[in-house]
Amino acid sequence: MKEGVGRLAEEIVEAEEVVVFTGAGVSTESGIPDFRSPGGLWSRYDPSDFYFGRFLSSEDSRRKYWQMYKEFFAVLHRAKPNPAHYACCELWQMGKLTAVITQNVDGLHQASGLPQDKVVELHGNATRVRCLDCGRTYASVQIEEWLRQGVEVTGCEGCGGLLKPATISFGQAMPEEEVRLAERYARGCDLFISVGSSLLVHPAALMPLFAKEAGARLIIVNLSETPYDGRADLLLRGRAAEVLPEAVRRAKELLTSSRSQGR
Ligand code: NAD
Ligand code: ZN
Repeated sequence: MKEGVGRLAEEIVEAEEVVVFTGAGVSTESGIPDFRSPGGLWSRYDPSDFYFGRFLSSEDSRRKYWQMYKEFFAVLHRAKPNPAHYACCELWQMGKLTAVITQNVDGLHQASGLPQDKVVELHGNATRVRCLDCGRTYASVQIEEWLRQGVEVTGCEGCGGLLKPATISFGQAMPEEEVRLAERYARGCDLFISVGSSLLVHPAALMPLFAKEAGARLIIVNLSETPYDGRADLLLRGRAAEVLPEAVRRAKELLTSSRSQGR
């Protein structure tokens, strides 16, 4: 593992355009559980209850949906960025980072100081709630307050329409602009680091393949197996909040020593 982190540091030093692709595993150490690990949300809720079509057609599905979100908001609103988020931000400060492409909806990359235009959110952002009819946007802290006061299914104050977190549910169209940008960044980078993603959710999981196809080096950092482990140039089975900051620290050391030798 130590050796692996060293290699990742070297890859960072050699790269000019790094894309970091993040999944729920980057935020578990901020206290937001991922959905698929044992005890995660998908072991307590049935994902099929949350298909967009069902959300639209069934009051019962909407009630379950908001019950799940009441739980999710409680952790989301307490969560703070962890060293993995800050390491991505440092890559940007080092001039290495093209963008972070994230499947996360928690806004923690931006909270760590990474500018919004460096974050491509493929699955939206749950810190906002939007009216599906008139588009009015609410802060999710406000909606959490309603839910705590006993509201079971929220409605728009302006038009009475259905409210939904500004995230992409199963069965809902992906955001075109974000998908296009993500693919462009993935194909244009020379180093693609996938961190804390099971790489099971499509089309997000195609991004590492686009990068590889276009000739980038592919690094996978994850606690468990992914379907693309065999395609990775370097595989690190470790915790995001340990591996990333350590790799960035060593990359900076290598850069400093090569600069001082060059003088
Ligand atoms: P996932 O739940 O499918 O996979 C997370 C992966 O992270 C797992 O393979 C797990 O082994 C690994 N992992 C867990 N903790 C880790 C750690 N500390 N370090 C390294 N790896 C770790 O997540 P996904 O692939 O991102 O897909 C789930 C979907 O659910 C996403 O598309 C996302 O939209 C949504 N989601 C978002 C959040 C969030 O915003 N924080 C949280 C849960 C789910
Ligand atoms: Zn409305």
